[in-house]
Amino acid sequence: PADAASNTEQVISSHLDEHLAPGESNGAVTQRTVTSDRLKTWRDQLSDNHILAAGVGVVGLTAGLAVGRKALISLAQTTKQHFLVTLEIPIRDQSYSWFLQWIHQHRRNLAQANLAPVTAENPQVSPFLSPIKYLFTRYTPRVHHLSVATTINKHDNGSISTSFSLLPGIGNHIFRYKNAFIKMERTRELKNLDPSGIPWETVSLTTLYSHRHIFNELLSAAQAHALKTQEGKTVIYTSWITEWKAFGQPQAKRPLSSVVLDRNVKENIVNDINDFLASGKWYQDRGIPYRRGYLLYGPPGSGKSSFIKALAGELNYDICLINLSERGLTDDRLNHLLINLPARSIALLEDADAAFANRKQKNEEGYTSANVTFSGLLNALDGVASSEERILFLTTNHKERLDDALIRPGRVDMAVEIGLATEWQVRKMFERFYGGEESELEPEWQARVKAWCDELVQALKNAGAFDGTGKGISTAELQGLFVYHKRSPKDAVAVAKAITQSSS
Ligand code: ADP
Repeated sequence: PADAASNTEQVISSHLDEHLAPGESNGAVTQRTVTSDRLKTWRDQLSDNHILAAGVGVVGLTAGLAVGRKALISLAQTTKQHFLVTLEIPIRDQSYSWFLQWIHQHRRNLAQANLAPVTAENPQVSPFLSPIKYLFTRYTPRVHHLSVATTINKHDNGSISTSFSLLPGIGNHIFRYKNAFIKMERTRELKNLDPSGIPWETVSLTTLYSHRHIFNELLSAAQAHALKTQEGKTVIYTSWITEWKAFGQPQAKRPLSSVVLDRNVKENIVNDINDFLASGKWYQDRGIPYRRGYLLYGPPGSGKSSFIKALAGELNYDICLINLSERGLTDDRLNHLLINLPARSIALLEDADAAFANRKQKNEEGYTSANVTFSGLLNALDGVASSEERILFLTTNHKERLDDALIRPGRVDMAVEIGLATEWQVRKMFERFYGGEESELEPEWQARVKAWCDELVQALKNAGAFDGTGKGISTAELQGLFVYHKRSPKDAVAVAKAITQSSS
């Protein structure tokens, strides 16, 4: 057969020679002859050598797989681009904490619904007749990687309670909302820290493009859930770099009536603030910055902080605590924070005198606290003229230590002394604790309470507690005494008498 093949080639070659012009060589044909020779030897070698054939097969298969893989990846990417939609929630967005809290609650609700007994509202779905429906109604993907968020609540009476929330940890999770399956990816970038050392986190939610409307519903549900937990409560915010962040869980509102200030003091402040809140247009028409500052001054334990908290609750406002000694707080940041207070919130600077207490000497910038300069504080308080309302409260135990510039009108519009307990306050507090004329207790008991109260007031009067000739008593001290003897007003009066006699 080899001879036959070479004969055929010779025939073709001579046939071609006939068509060539004289002087032209048939080099192309020679080339083709060599190539076909090579192919032939390769083919022969391959069919003869099985190992070589297998090797070439493996190489071909690998190349094919690589191409297939690439195609699959690009197909997946195209599918992702066209059929999936992703929502990113960065840690700095308010929805971040709302979402994490909500997802914790949502998963609990789903698990409970799946365990609930079969009823007309919760019919049993057959996994065989309608497997997809079964999957949707019965399947609650479990989260195996959790992170804990601990909240410490400090109560007014000094006790502390702790609560834990288990949140989905870093990694991927799948959950179901309505009839959509959503992939949640919580990532943390350890390299990307903010100045306070907290790693940057993001939550990405991915679902089918056709379910994209679910994101809006989901975020609204998360927000509603967050607002519900805050309902009837006061949120305390502290500054976090350039943002305001809720500090711990929202606190239960304290009734304004539980804070006993001297006659009409509370009413005057409440009326003033209500008048201010109703006069937005008046300020706007006159081009006056819409803000009002209050200074409460007096000895510690007279109820300044308690009153501000109760007032915020009464107005349905939150409180933003300004901490001038916070690390990294600069004039610019403070300014930014005060311009960007959360809506319906009171800015509170407690112990305003202490912020610049360690001042050495007034330099050209004024006094300096850790980072914020005194002039920086004044600038931040004045802020840029904005139409947003702003309510500022300052408290101090030593009004005389405050610089006049800080409490000039425009920065502080109303300064109120909250002093040691007056006779009126002692009587009010005694009645609140043990039941006075306004209580529903028996008249006989009321009469006895009144007699003990008179005895206490007389003892304090004798000791000069009300006219400044002797040592006064603070409302916090009175509260401590009444709490200690909560079941025996008689003992409370006896102890108070003993103390006043020994100190006078
Ligand atoms: P201040 O801010 O003036 O130092 P606080 O408001 O922190 O005082 O009061 C300390 C504690 O004493 C709180 O538990 C508060 O309930 C109680 N207290 C002090 N003054 C009053 C008051 N006038 N009425 C009711 N409770 C008071």
